[in-house]
Amino acid sequence: MDLSVVIPLYNEEESLRPLNKILKNVLGKLNVKYEILYIDDGSRDESVKILKEISSNDKHVKVIELKRNFGKSIALAVGFDKLVGDLVITMDADLQDDPEEIPKLIEQIEKNYDLVSGWKYKRKDPLVKILSSKIFNFTVSLLSGLKIHDFNCGFKIYRKEVVKSIELYGELHRFLPFLAYQQGFKVGEIKVKHNVRQFGESKYGRSGLKRLSNYILDPINVVFLTKYQRKPAHFFGNIGLISFAIGLLISIYLTVIWFMGQGIGNRPLLFLGVLLMIIGIQLVSMGFLGELIVRENISKSKDKYVKKHDKELVE
Ligand code: UDP
Ligand code: MG
Repeated sequence: MDLSVVIPLYNEEESLRPLNKILKNVLGKLNVKYEILYIDDGSRDESVKILKEISSNDKHVKVIELKRNFGKSIALAVGFDKLVGDLVITMDADLQDDPEEIPKLIEQIEKNYDLVSGWKYKRKDPLVKILSSKIFNFTVSLLSGLKIHDFNCGFKIYRKEVVKSIELYGELHRFLPFLAYQQGFKVGEIKVKHNVRQFGESKYGRSGLKRLSNYILDPINVVFLTKYQRKPAHFFGNIGLISFAIGLLISIYLTVIWFMGQGIGNRPLLFLGVLLMIIGIQLVSMGFLGELIVRENISKSKDKYVKKHDKELVE
């Protein structure tokens, strides 16, 4: 198998038939062996029925149904697990990504990249979304050191090796290029055409709370993953030690003046000192718990650290 196309979807009944038609048309011209994997992320509309209809007439098309709506990251992770192609394309099901761009993606990854991400440089989405996405991309790029414009584009091409070595969960699909980059894969970017959503509605709505975690917590998560994934004791330990040290200094100071005969029982500083020391110990212990978890999960195979030669990659 040369090429696998992975398409996660949730309630996209109207888009599926036209999408599959255009996709088949483009892939047919490429003269490669391919499969199309539709991952149904617990749709409640007619999506599955339509997909089954499509796949019953077409051996290239496979449908995987998830038990419920788990979110795009899990849908992609399942696709990555099941696919067999050497090159992997992911795209959204809503016709916003244009299959006609696929040959361009293939051409680009063959220039010795491991992942090429689409860049929706003329994005056809509501203004709020475009702006918040700009902030997101700017922050993630700054924090991660990976200079690309559009981390969260659904349209990407990967070498099989990349998708097989990335663990996706939560909302991590929005950091895919970074996750690959962090593992030492070569990441590129190419401009792709973006269309207005024709049918259905965006699954990433207007919830303020979601925005908060997307734009504040997730970038912090990125820094954490980049710098401390393999050494959590350093992250928690450093903050913990500083906190403990300040608490200790305060306590020493109070002890000294207590010996000099001053009462300290009603000084707010006493509480601060004790609090800082306790927090410090908590954080340091948390860091060690983290280390234990890392240690349990470290894999025996060290292949992922070793550079492969270009020829092997293309094979
Ligand atoms: N999607 C999914 N599970 C979800 C939400 C979305 O599989 O829980 C799919 C969705 O059907 C689409 C892609 O992920 O194929 C991108 O979603 P959407 O178009 O809503 O995002 P937007 O383009 O608005 O950022
Ligand atoms: Mg969309």
